Amino acid sequence: MIRERAYPVEPWHVRETRLDMDVLAQSESVFALSNGHVGLRGNLDEGEPHGLPGTYLNSFYELRPLPYAEAGFGFPESGQTVVNVTNGKLIRLLVDDEPLDVRYGELLAHERVLDLRAGTLHRELHWRSPAGREIKVRSTRLVSFTQRAVAAIDYEVEAVDGPLRLILQSELVANEALPAQSKDPRVAAVLESPLQAEEELTTADGGLLIHRTKVSGLRVAAAMEHEVYAPGRTTSQSEGYEDWVRTTIGCVLRPGETLRVVKYLAYGWSSRRSLPAMRDQVEAALTGARLDGWDGLRREQREYLDEFWDAADVVVEGDPEIQQAVRFGMFHVLQAGSRAERRPIAAKGLTGPGYDGHAFWDTEMFVLPVLTYTQPAAVRDALHWRHGTLAAAQERARTLNLEGAAFPWRTIEGPESSGYWPAGTAAFHIAAGVADALRRYVQVTQDTELEREIGLELLVETARLWRSLGHHDRHGQFHIDGVTGPDEYTAVKNDNIYTNLMAQRNLISAADAVMRYRDEAFHLGVTDEEAAAWRDAAASMHIPYDEEIDVHEQVEGFTRLQEWDFAHTPPEKYPLLLHYPYFDLYRKQVVKQADLVLAMHWRGDAFTPEQKLRNFLYYERRTVRDSSLSACTQSVLAAEVGHPELAHVYLREAALMDLHDLNENTRDGVHMASLAGAWIALVAGFGGLRDHDGNLSFAPRLSSRLERLEFSLQWRGMRLRVDVRPDQTTYALRHGDPGDMLELRHHGEPVRVTCGEPVTMPIPTAEVSGPAPEQAPGRAPLLRLPENEP
Ligand code: BGC
Repeated sequence: MIRERAYPVEPWHVRETRLDMDVLAQSESVFALSNGHVGLRGNLDEGEPHGLPGTYLNSFYELRPLPYAEAGFGFPESGQTVVNVTNGKLIRLLVDDEPLDVRYGELLAHERVLDLRAGTLHRELHWRSPAGREIKVRSTRLVSFTQRAVAAIDYEVEAVDGPLRLILQSELVANEALPAQSKDPRVAAVLESPLQAEEELTTADGGLLIHRTKVSGLRVAAAMEHEVYAPGRTTSQSEGYEDWVRTTIGCVLRPGETLRVVKYLAYGWSSRRSLPAMRDQVEAALTGARLDGWDGLRREQREYLDEFWDAADVVVEGDPEIQQAVRFGMFHVLQAGSRAERRPIAAKGLTGPGYDGHAFWDTEMFVLPVLTYTQPAAVRDALHWRHGTLAAAQERARTLNLEGAAFPWRTIEGPESSGYWPAGTAAFHIAAGVADALRRYVQVTQDTELEREIGLELLVETARLWRSLGHHDRHGQFHIDGVTGPDEYTAVKNDNIYTNLMAQRNLISAADAVMRYRDEAFHLGVTDEEAAAWRDAAASMHIPYDEEIDVHEQVEGFTRLQEWDFAHTPPEKYPLLLHYPYFDLYRKQVVKQADLVLAMHWRGDAFTPEQKLRNFLYYERRTVRDSSLSACTQSVLAAEVGHPELAHVYLREAALMDLHDLNENTRDGVHMASLAGAWIALVAGFGGLRDHDGNLSFAPRLSSRLERLEFSLQWRGMRLRVDVRPDQTTYALRHGDPGDMLELRHHGEPVRVTCGEPVTMPIPTAEVSGPAPEQAPGRAPLLRLPENEP
């Protein structure tokens, strides 16, 4: 954990004021740059020291066998693992023969700044070599949002004393050695030298490398080119061999003089294109980059982000750490999704190899709700990606003797890559997440073209899954047995309430869509009988409830299971999954992450306010938050059931997950769902946004610490700005035609907002709501509010 505040609180920057070697790997994740296609970890320019070198291309993976001690029918036999591809970030520097390495000599100053508006990582250092020669280095790196294959580095060295002989070596390096693998199941499998060399080429000012993976057969090309600015004579030459290409630039600088090198990088990969085609592709991308030049790339980057922030910014007054963290989170969410273009959004984005680079339900249930309201084009692409994996999901369903589509729990390209059934394929609820993300996207954008083209099929195939996975009992009740819900400490059980409620909505959405697109549905083989069977299943969905103690059951029989012995579980035994057998966790009332509580958020329409409060209190005492996908949901529900102060501390836990490395695994990549969760906690928690029935409703109410919360939502081409103060909320509509309007609900009251005519509504006084929530002993929220800060 980063216990001391590592990054000063600033609204638009994440700044590291000194280089802390102990948290190098964490900072590499925090400072990772990506556009959803290319991802560069925040490794130091000179490559060493590093925590974990990393350069990733979305969907560039290698296959590896998934061995089982005891095999079983339907177990996936191979898994996909993200590959650390050719590193183009490397710029080594020799100062009078001495390599710039911050572990040697004296580091007089070192600062890195992630600029959330400029979309750059800037670094400044002042170094005295062991021989006493002094230089200053300024480097700025970007991964372009506008040219998705391109990254660039502006690297400048200033001689403080001199004359100094500088040799700069800019490189492309494949098959870098990676640190050894740990036993933690959440980290990635380490692949030894996964890339086979196919071509290496050098030119006067750069070069390229082409490689191929051994088993998956994917081809990757990386190319670089340099512009050199120096006061006097420079020498430059390039050479290379199989796994590396190097351009070496030499010059002599007098004190105060600078050598500036702009490095343009281009990446491409393909499973089909030929080697010459890949070569041409990256060279063309480099030409595109040079056409704009460094200044042009920076300007476009800024413009792209100005547009994003105009539509999506969240303003928080009263907790400056949260102001910084929510923007940091949204920046990473944007980086993960903006140019993913029909490729997955992984749990870590492209910031690290954690979870082997896999995408989970995190995408549809945490990341996409945020992007739907802030960057809907990225959601369109993500839904296309899921649809592109439909054939694999249908095949998986057939293997499991089911109908429709069983989407994989973990994957990069579509096939199930989870080798552990109970916390893998058994989590069928991912199907309902896909359906819900689609429903929300269509509702918010009215993109009926997408709905017709791919949406209907996704709804139909997921509805078919539910219908075949569940069954009616002799009383007509519909059950979904033997599944795992979001809580991975309760596995392969009957009637998980989250799964059942989400499946219910999925079945109804599918039946409704069939009515809208009758011809297309006919082509998918849907009959009236089939759609009616979906409605029947939805109408008779079993919702487990314990009448005796008046709470819903997370799964059938949950409340009669043995209680977990929290009193004898010392803090160092968390996360429980690393210290207790699953057998024990599965038999007891211990909840890894919000499950029923998550159902109360996304299916809040299925519970009364009294039920929500009782359920919240019951599950709060049993939830350990061993997953980062929990705090944000607990925040949303704490706010709804009248505990805004608790909501605030949970918001802090979700939002500061990576800036404080709360789960001590940020080194493997940022927690994208938790970062998205900061937005969810603010907008759905304190803003009270719900979109259950195709309409927007809000129930804003701030915690005592917050003075103001302002957020923007995209809605059918318009932008709704919601400005929440302690006692009132103003709704304003922009980007529509005069007269365009939106009907919403504010604390249950209908409100009509017309373009250009903001409406201000008072916030009703909160009703006092019963006993204070208690957490399981030792599991109080991780980050209380700082006492004496403004
Ligand atoms: C959580 C899952 C999540 C996965 C990837 C696990 O620890 O329990 O819900 O999908 O991490 O983030």
